Amino acid sequence: MSAIAFHLPDELQDVLADLEAFLATEVIARHEKHADLLEDPRRLYDEDGRHSAPAQQLIREVRQASSAAGFFNLSVPPSIGGRGLGYLAYYSAWELANRTCGPRNWLGTFALSHWAFGPSAVLEQVTDEARERFLPGLLAGDTSMCFGLSEPGAGSDAAALTTRAEPDGDGWRVHGRKIWTTNVTFADWMVVFAVTDAERAARRRGGISAFLVPTDAPGFRLDRVIRMHGHIGGVEGETVLDGVPVEPWQLVGPLDDGLRIGLLGVSLGRVYNSARSVGLARWSLEKAIAYAKDRVAFGQPIADYQGVSFPLAESAMQVHAAHLMGLNVAQLLDQGGRAVKELSMTKAFSVEVCLRAVDRAIQTHGARGFVNEEGLVEAYNTLRLINVADGTNEILRRTIFQQLAKGDLDL
Ligand SMILES: Cc1cc2nc3c(=O)[nH]c(=O)nc-3n(C[C@H](O)[C@H](O)[C@H](O)COP(=O)(O)OP(=O)(O)OC[C@H]3O[C@@H](n4cnc5c(N)ncnc54)[C@H](O)[C@@H]3O)c2cc1C
Repeated sequence: MSAIAFHLPDELQDVLADLEAFLATEVIARHEKHADLLEDPRRLYDEDGRHSAPAQQLIREVRQASSAAGFFNLSVPPSIGGRGLGYLAYYSAWELANRTCGPRNWLGTFALSHWAFGPSAVLEQVTDEARERFLPGLLAGDTSMCFGLSEPGAGSDAAALTTRAEPDGDGWRVHGRKIWTTNVTFADWMVVFAVTDAERAARRRGGISAFLVPTDAPGFRLDRVIRMHGHIGGVEGETVLDGVPVEPWQLVGPLDDGLRIGLLGVSLGRVYNSARSVGLARWSLEKAIAYAKDRVAFGQPIADYQGVSFPLAESAMQVHAAHLMGLNVAQLLDQGGRAVKELSMTKAFSVEVCLRAVDRAIQTHGARGFVNEEGLVEAYNTLRLINVADGTNEILRRTIFQQLAKGDLDL
């Protein structure tokens, strides 16, 4: 019997069952076949820190296979060529992918499109010309994109960004610097946020626009790959935009109203990261339970000691609550609400309790918990990063309280 009373629609259950089979044959089997490459950092990354060409090829293959099988674009709006299954499918599919693949089979993170590297609702507002030039490759998984909002001087306070688009003929020239951009290391396109009306931007009344920029445009330069938590390479980077030309067809959404698109992307990120947290926490909890039943100390399986079993029961309580919150907020979003408070609560709560769950799983494994092959520390580091990405937990609390103070007291 399911632990969750809410019944996922039959169509979605079928999609998830098919996705699980796809992950087994197209992600996990591919990882096994190429484990020599994927588990050797010296082959996984080039000297400059980017994924090596064979690694990029494997990532592309997963995207393409998933697109052909109908999973990659499952939550992308039909208006831009996706299946339009909505937020509940998005949440459930990402939770499943993380629980099934764990941190080791990380190619799974490319099996479903998300706003920061593939098609999503963020792109509903691209121009007709952009649809023709850019969407087919992205939907097929042949190409990928990234989302350039944060800057060295503008993180949580994204509206403080200073990258500017100066008028030039019919279009603009973009000058500035972006940082922490996930996937910029191999993306074909970046959605760049830039000031188009300095006076309005200074008053925080619009004045920021979004543009679709090819990463091989003149003046676009990846300055460095940012190596996160002990990796010798990575997918986050810092980029310089030095007079990059953009034309009107590259505008995403209305001029001067780009931050609204930025916020939509960040919201999709909060759903994705809530699901990712629960998926990784369930993966780690299942591993910890199996290990505790197997590992013997002082003549008994360590699962017999309450010092081991109670923390795992604690994890189960909290991860279950996070899972319910995720399913709930996904349905609120599918009903058309913005669910600002609920999404902020879900992401903050999910990441925090799931981080603790992975930590308890590490502790249950004793010294084995730190062995690279187990993947537990990798899962911990991933969740630690999610604690900052797409709204830090402090910013989420700030948002929650702002909503409460406005009178949204429904809990
Ligand atoms: C793994 C990863 C991937 C990312 N990918 C992308 C990407 O693809 N595209 C992109 O544009 N950005 C990306 N980011 C950047 C991310 O959006 C920012 O890191 C985030 O918004 C926080 O900004 P910051 O790092 O500049 O921290 P800051 O905003 O400088 O915050 C520093 C600390 O101060 C706290 N703080 C700030 N203001 C307040 C306040 N008002 N009240 C209480 N506390 C406050 C924060 O919570 C934090 O603890 C990524 C980040 C990470 C970690």
